[in-house]
Amino acid sequence: MTTWKCSNCGYTMEANTPPNQCPSCKEKCEFLDTTCYIPDCAPTGVDERIK
Ligand SMILES: [Zn+2]
Repeated sequence: MTTWKCSNCGYTMEANTPPNQCPSCKEKCEFLDTTCYIPDCAPTGVDERIK
């Protein structure tokens, strides 16, 4: 499973692939992969946009 975060409202969810439409804000927004967003994992695998 991969953790995805909505770039629009910050909603997070777990799925194998990101949804086309955010279930929270109902926008067709970009989902960021936050699976690796833990200190031990830095600096690789961290998306700069979710800081
Ligand atoms: Zn959203």
